Amino acid sequence: MPFSTPSTAERQRMLDACFLGPYGENDGLLEKLVVEFLRDHVYWRRNFHPEDPPAISTAAAMHPDYQAFEARMRRELHQLSAALKKSVPFHSPRYIGHMASDLLLPGLAAQILTLPYNPNNVTEDAAPVTVELEVKVGLQLARMLGYVDDPSREDCAFGHLTSGGTVANYQALRLALALKAFPVALRAAGVPDIALPEDDWAAFNLHPRRSTQLVAQWQDWLAAATPADRKHWQAKVQAERIEQRGLLDFFARHPALKIPKVLVPITAHYSWSKGCKLLGLGRDQLELLPERGMRIDAEALTRTLERCQRDQQPVLLAVAVMGTTEYGTIDPIDAVVAARETASTHGLGFSVHVDAAWGGYLATLFRNGDGSLRSREEVAAGFRSFPSAEVHAAIAALGETDSVTVDPHKLGYLPYGAGAFICRDHRAVALLSEEADYVFHGSAKQDYMSRYRGLGQYVPEGSKSGAAVAGVYVTHKVLPLDHAHFGLLPAQTIRAAEAFHARALRFAEEMAGVVRAVVPFAPDSNLVCFALNPCGNRRVADANAFVRRVHDELRSDPSRPLQDKQFFGSATSLRPEVLGEAETHRILEALDLDPSTLGQDGGDKLMILRHTLMNPYLIDTENGISYIDLYFEHLASRMRGLLAG
Ligand SMILES: *Cc1c(COP(=O)(O)O)cnc(C)c1O
Repeated sequence: MPFSTPSTAERQRMLDACFLGPYGENDGLLEKLVVEFLRDHVYWRRNFHPEDPPAISTAAAMHPDYQAFEARMRRELHQLSAALKKSVPFHSPRYIGHMASDLLLPGLAAQILTLPYNPNNVTEDAAPVTVELEVKVGLQLARMLGYVDDPSREDCAFGHLTSGGTVANYQALRLALALKAFPVALRAAGVPDIALPEDDWAAFNLHPRRSTQLVAQWQDWLAAATPADRKHWQAKVQAERIEQRGLLDFFARHPALKIPKVLVPITAHYSWSKGCKLLGLGRDQLELLPERGMRIDAEALTRTLERCQRDQQPVLLAVAVMGTTEYGTIDPIDAVVAARETASTHGLGFSVHVDAAWGGYLATLFRNGDGSLRSREEVAAGFRSFPSAEVHAAIAALGETDSVTVDPHKLGYLPYGAGAFICRDHRAVALLSEEADYVFHGSAKQDYMSRYRGLGQYVPEGSKSGAAVAGVYVTHKVLPLDHAHFGLLPAQTIRAAEAFHARALRFAEEMAGVVRAVVPFAPDSNLVCFALNPCGNRRVADANAFVRRVHDELRSDPSRPLQDKQFFGSATSLRPEVLGEAETHRILEALDLDPSTLGQDGGDKLMILRHTLMNPYLIDTENGISYIDLYFEHLASRMRGLLAG
């Protein structure tokens, strides 16, 4: 069947009702929804016990105290509303700075609708509806990633929401540590009837699939045991677990083991450093993997693993990033998985986690409605060069990883407070439970849904917003996570990034003789960086000073009226220790900068502009306006101005 690609204008029509819009075009729709469901909520209150009369007098509003309160409330709300006018205009196609844009209407409306019910997703007692929705969101995301999403299967995935990607990454560390240390505890407790590894080293370095199987076997064994045996052995194993003993005591008891390392690419988000501190592993356990072109260098990873093996240094987790925060690059997830498989056949098993806080929803482009993977050719229809073979292979390998972080509040276009953690096989999650009797309520094994209704058992947080969950769930129902639905949004941003990239190259030609402009790496996704140097300058520090001045005009400045700003962009830096010598020289040369000036005052790294192209209206087909063109015209005139002034 030939694959027909809808035109840009057709695609934009499909998205017309998705957002409030840059101009607030869909104000009527949102207002209708908010009023409709607010009324609906009020009827629900009244219908609980219609015989209960109003407790607030119908004459209350006439009382001076009431009126004074209302007046104070209004005054404060007006002040807040006025102050918020200094907010960053994320909704505007003139905003191409950080990872924020307009909000999806289904999510916004569902969240507003749910707020007055105030469900608390810590437990189903406080959230009989939204806890179940949260578990379903986990399954929706699992399907997008290529994990098993059928709860009747024993190896079904499990996911939950968090306040953001940072906390989801903590959860990845916590789960990986629990899985790694559990087989050691089984051995130490002397559990009968289950075949266990021969020594502590082997037990601590199992492939996570094998550790997960052990958790399942252990649960089955408990289920078959007498109540007295069950109690006895449960207590014995619990006493040996790392979560019970603490790191110090656990490692003292197992002298053949060292505190494991966390391998993250050098471009990784600082949540990994925070996580190592929080878990008490210490920052020293965070090992930064070198990169090539801002992607993990697979050969260097292999060398690192070989060294770990030689030094008997266990590895907790290897992290691949799908969409780096600074450059949007995608690590070779397939190569990281392959390196893990090889290492674990040599007795060095560890978990593989993908930090897809930014890029997770790009996976929708790679999925059909039935959850199957699309070929690279199918995905590529309608793009200039996306996806590269490397990107396709990386995303195709997601299903082989152990866990993933995805942020609905980034490329999911949803309000803040929505990150997600998804793990490949839900049986591992039993290890996170706060209650020792995680398997049983009574003696019957619980089905998937009823087990996870006690969500608070497993998640890092306590009380949490059911309204945020409702927003994510409804969005995924209105826009299923496949290429024909939700995928329209990332497709739009990739096209915008490709157009931006092409325009940036043209800009570089147009500005010849004025500034040198270079796109330091071809973008993997929808972030495009731009390096600049005024012609004639050879010093890195002076190039940085120039980029800083350009960026100062592109950043939010609450002391000046918002309307003074033509565009918003962001900046980042390229550090030689991250880039490596060859890449650093390549980029400096392209900019006509003298590498020997690197490291001089103010020039220890190269400042560059960074653009996040997630606004769906960067190319406005309705009015035939390209905000990308306008941006580059603005940049050209500002740069000429700065250099003349
Ligand atoms: C944004 C981001 C995080 C942190 O997520 P928060 O939602 O800000 O806590 C972690 N990793 C990557 C790659 C990110 O882009």
